[in-house]
Amino acid sequence: MTDEIANHLSHLECGLTADRYEAGIVHGLSRAGKPLLARYDLSAVRSSADRDAIWARDTGFWKWRELLPVREAENICALGEVDTPLIGLDRLHDKGIVTVKDEGRLPTGSFKARGLAVAVAMAKELGLTHLAMPTNGNAGSALAAYASRVGIQTTIVCPDDTPAINIEETALQGALVYKANGLINACGAWVKAGADKGLWFDLSTLKEPYRIEGKKTMGLELAAQLGWQLPDVIFYPTGGGTGLIGMWKAFAELIELGWLEKTDLPRMVAVQASGCAPIVRAYDAGERFATLWQDAHTFAAGIRVPAAVGDFLILDAVRDSNGFAIAVDDAAIEDARQTVAREEGLLLCPEGAATYAAYLSALATGQVAKDERAILFNCATGLKYPMPDAGKVLDLANPA
Ligand SMILES: *Cc1c(COP(=O)(O)O)cnc(C)c1O
Repeated sequence: MTDEIANHLSHLECGLTADRYEAGIVHGLSRAGKPLLARYDLSAVRSSADRDAIWARDTGFWKWRELLPVREAENICALGEVDTPLIGLDRLHDKGIVTVKDEGRLPTGSFKARGLAVAVAMAKELGLTHLAMPTNGNAGSALAAYASRVGIQTTIVCPDDTPAINIEETALQGALVYKANGLINACGAWVKAGADKGLWFDLSTLKEPYRIEGKKTMGLELAAQLGWQLPDVIFYPTGGGTGLIGMWKAFAELIELGWLEKTDLPRMVAVQASGCAPIVRAYDAGERFATLWQDAHTFAAGIRVPAAVGDFLILDAVRDSNGFAIAVDDAAIEDARQTVAREEGLLLCPEGAATYAAYLSALATGQVAKDERAILFNCATGLKYPMPDAGKVLDLANPA
């Protein structure tokens, strides 16, 4: 006997054309080659669910099941998810003004857990048995972990300069991992070729509809943590943009549900590295679609994404929210990481540090005011990344 969840997924919709697609069968991109977005019967959710009762459930993103696509409880794959904490940068700024949402506390140490847990659960529900994906690191380890948990095979390919720890943790968690001599979009083309041959299902960012639903829970959780209100501005390190698009979608759903105390939406800020900033370039040029960024480089691997299939969804959310897109260089990112670690005791990942560097830069130019409440996303534990050499030598044979 299977345990059914109160499920309200009604259909899927092309993010560009709004064409409708049936729920309950396997989908990749839409016929227009664009991401598919999950749509729910929100009036059914409104009449059957209570926001505070949901928030009072056990910790972790699976509590939002009425707003997730999974139908059968047995397909849920869990590894001890938590609601991630909000940590104020209270020594560096006025108390409560700048807050880090620390996603590094999730299983596999990054917010990729949110998206991949839901994508894997849906893959299981829809009968897929082999998933493949290109990754710059954290997505691969999250996919490997959740897929192994439910007995699904995985093949993962990453650029050969992906941090060793990501490659090793992914392999240890049961995936077949390849290190390839190309950037993530080239790895993605290889995965697509295998999928076209029927070897596996392509689970690339936004090329299937459910990862964004998992990422959406960041927005739901944030709203609940802030007493069903939203901050003034959100700084999000943007690679494929799943989280930014997902949160924007979450806020729209919360408004339609009538679950927000105030419907003031935050300005969404897409943060990129100056060595790979296709979204910033398109934003500055007033374009809706971004072009491929040549010779991408930055040590913040999670945002080293030269082309994003959801580019227009990121840019639409940034513009609709009156936000902006901003690039910061690697030196500013490293400075920000060291400042926050030293002054606040909080070790950010480089991508998370990029959001703080962007915040400081926006503060200096007046794009953000000092009294506005800002949320910065730290997407992974700082412990996964190389750190500067440290430790003075102490000779115990020669006491000073
Ligand atoms: C994947 C990743 C990002 C980018 O997230 P998107 O939602 O795909 O834009 C940022 N930082 C880290 C550490 C990541 O792993």
